[in-house]
Amino acid sequence: MRNDIPLAPLNWFKTGGNAEFFSEPQTLEDALSDLAFAKKEGLEVNVLGEGANTLVSDSGCKGLVLRPANKEIALCERPEGLVLEAGCGANMQDVIDYALNNRALGLEEFAGLPGTIGGAAFINAHFFEFFLADFLLSAKVISLDGSVQEVGKDWFEYGYDVSRLHREKWLVWSVKFLLKPGGEFETAFAKGRAYEIIRQRSRRYPKERTCGSFFRNFLPEEAQGKVASVAFYLDKIGVKGTLSCGQAIVSRKHANMLETKEGATSADVVCLAREMQKLVYKNFGLTPVPECRFLGFPSFPLYTKDTIDG
Ligand SMILES: Cc1cc2nc3c(=O)[nH]c(=O)nc-3n(C[C@H](O)[C@H](O)[C@H](O)COP(=O)(O)OP(=O)(O)OC[C@H]3O[C@@H](n4cnc5c(N)ncnc54)[C@H](O)[C@@H]3O)c2cc1C
Repeated sequence: MRNDIPLAPLNWFKTGGNAEFFSEPQTLEDALSDLAFAKKEGLEVNVLGEGANTLVSDSGCKGLVLRPANKEIALCERPEGLVLEAGCGANMQDVIDYALNNRALGLEEFAGLPGTIGGAAFINAHFFEFFLADFLLSAKVISLDGSVQEVGKDWFEYGYDVSRLHREKWLVWSVKFLLKPGGEFETAFAKGRAYEIIRQRSRRYPKERTCGSFFRNFLPEEAQGKVASVAFYLDKIGVKGTLSCGQAIVSRKHANMLETKEGATSADVVCLAREMQKLVYKNFGLTPVPECRFLGFPSFPLYTKDTIDG
């Protein structure tokens, strides 16, 4: 347990203040003892993975930030397929590499996706038509008062960019995936596909100081029969590489991705994101909803459907 730890180096935007308390538990026992400490001291608990989808407040984060460091990956054969278990702190690409090297197929669809298994399980990470939930079998989760449960996929109530974890705070400790055993040819094909996906991603997306898509696409009920893609509207408005606020700018590569420059603050990112929301609302009557998560902000820092008109 450490105090006053800078979170800027630990998130992809490279902005934000310090964590009041910070811990990187490696074992389940460590995590439980951190949670017990937080409970005893009355500290709010927040979880951070690699910060690839998180904006940290410039004034930092009160309470305890847990950044799990359990990165173990293991594979076993079951009648229904290959079951791969990964710690929540494991990096997604490390898990994919491990799976492919052991001829376990499926997760290569997420090749090049930044972040940890915990972060991916939180949001039901997706790429085109593939969702993490398509492969997730079960998980070990810990409640903030320290009870450990093994839960099945249904427990997560997954949808597009949403899970039960958006409403209730749980620590996902490890995740089991059901993967397909591959022969030599299929595995070589899957490795090639992973390589090609990474190549495409690096051409289409910024590589650093971003959280990927800042806003999620519109749900059918929000889009009201219009195009669901937020980037479509932002592209039409023409924000790529031009719209900026302080040291935060819309990426030249992707209209729904924000990038920070040296010296940027999280307030710059918030200001730019709000400006993007206003533009989409003014031109198309739709209010973009962030996919990015906010850490340490006293209240939700962007516009909502109810506040954008004010
Ligand atoms: C360049 C770029 C491209 C991207 N492309 C995609 C894409 O194609 N598809 C996609 O879905 N996402 C994409 N993202 C977003 C990001 O990769 C995912 O959201 C990823 O899963 C975030 O993982 P993380 O460990 O960095 O999570 P963090 O940003 O650290 O955390 C995100 C949320 O998950 C919660 N969380 C993290 N770990 C745990 C845990 N163990 N238990 C409970 N909650 C936890 C945090 O509390 C937070 O609310 C992209 C990001 C970048 C930077």
